[in-house]
Amino acid sequence: MSIEGGIHVGNKTDLEFYTVEVGDTTFRILRRYVNLRPIGSGAQGFVCAALDLITQTNVAIKKLSRPFQNVTHAKRAFREFSILKLVNHKNIISLLNAFTPSSRMDEFNDVYIIMELMDANLCQVIQMDLDHERISYLLYQILCGIKHLHSAGIIHRDLKPSNIVVRSDCTLKILDFGLARTAGTSFMMTPYVVTRYYRAPEVILGMGYKENVDIWSVGCIFGEMIRGQVIFPGSDHIDQWNKIIEQLGTPAKEFLSRLQPTVRNYVENRPKYSGYSLDKLFPDQLFPPDSEQSKLTASLARDLLGRMLIIDPDKRMSVDEALNHPYINVWFEESEVHAPAPGIYNHLVDEREYTVDQWRELIFHEVVQYEYEQIKISTNGGGGGGDKQLNNQSMDQAMEN
Ligand code: AMP
Repeated sequence: MSIEGGIHVGNKTDLEFYTVEVGDTTFRILRRYVNLRPIGSGAQGFVCAALDLITQTNVAIKKLSRPFQNVTHAKRAFREFSILKLVNHKNIISLLNAFTPSSRMDEFNDVYIIMELMDANLCQVIQMDLDHERISYLLYQILCGIKHLHSAGIIHRDLKPSNIVVRSDCTLKILDFGLARTAGTSFMMTPYVVTRYYRAPEVILGMGYKENVDIWSVGCIFGEMIRGQVIFPGSDHIDQWNKIIEQLGTPAKEFLSRLQPTVRNYVENRPKYSGYSLDKLFPDQLFPPDSEQSKLTASLARDLLGRMLIIDPDKRMSVDEALNHPYINVWFEESEVHAPAPGIYNHLVDEREYTVDQWRELIFHEVVQYEYEQIKISTNGGGGGGDKQLNNQSMDQAMEN
């Protein structure tokens, strides 16, 4: 099979691949990955931990089953793969490898993404009794990760605890890249319930947005760490808005004037709420004890929370202000906050309108191209770290065709 740029894909054989059942899911993967254990599943696929025999490290393998099955899945898979290749920051998950067991487009079904393995997602950690140091360090790392995404022109808009993973040493990485510019927040054909608890008012209300849309989500995560439960648990879009205004109060007229007429009409006809002060919403007893050592206190934490959970984005703090806030800046490291920006993500990719068959071809070509580049890196000794024997073998097969 030949594709643009003259790349040839040889037959991928049992010498390279094997099949293993994990729960109800079949994984057909490179032989270097063994000892699979299920660790999670999301809208996109099933995730396993595994041992990489070549690097002797544990990795996470995500199976994207027929990522081209519908346009929404396809766009998302394509976008995720493109951004994973682009970004490079300690607070964003790293792509270690990617492959498909298929040699031919007409047999192409699944993509496997290999990533660094983390210990748990933030949903599990949020439940724990965290002290100020841990809370502040986790928030600092989320902020560094989103600042890096912003520097690539990617505004997340859908940060949530299930898409943030941590290690037991409290290091943290963001797993996904949020909503595509064109995705809006519309209905998606999936059996998974989409979590909207962390979405900012400007996303719920379909307004324009800027980088600090992501500060709202960080505020919701922060509030949940303090309260021990989701702070705005809306059952749908409308209820989500109700939960916000019941606690924070109906926003000022000036904000409402910036809404589209139909949305404005709805919002203006809701009952008016005066909201509660932050001390009432997050009373002292919910916070961990003040820390003598790091000088992190409940009142500092509440001050930060109050600047994040502001409905009007023009009044809400920015990412830089959050990173410089005294509750967060205790961790400030120039190299983490101002890490080199990656290339700028080309959003036109998200605007492509392809059929399922075209997506299938495009995704297949992307993955095969990636496989080919990995082979080149490893045969040129370019620090790919992979096994030359295995990769040369695929290279030979690639050349055969
Ligand atoms: P996703 O399909 O990316 O939404 O991931 C679903 C779940 O799998 C996450 O909520 C995590 O619990 C788990 N998971 C995904 N990737 C990793 C990883 N690299 N390390 C540890 N757990 C992960």
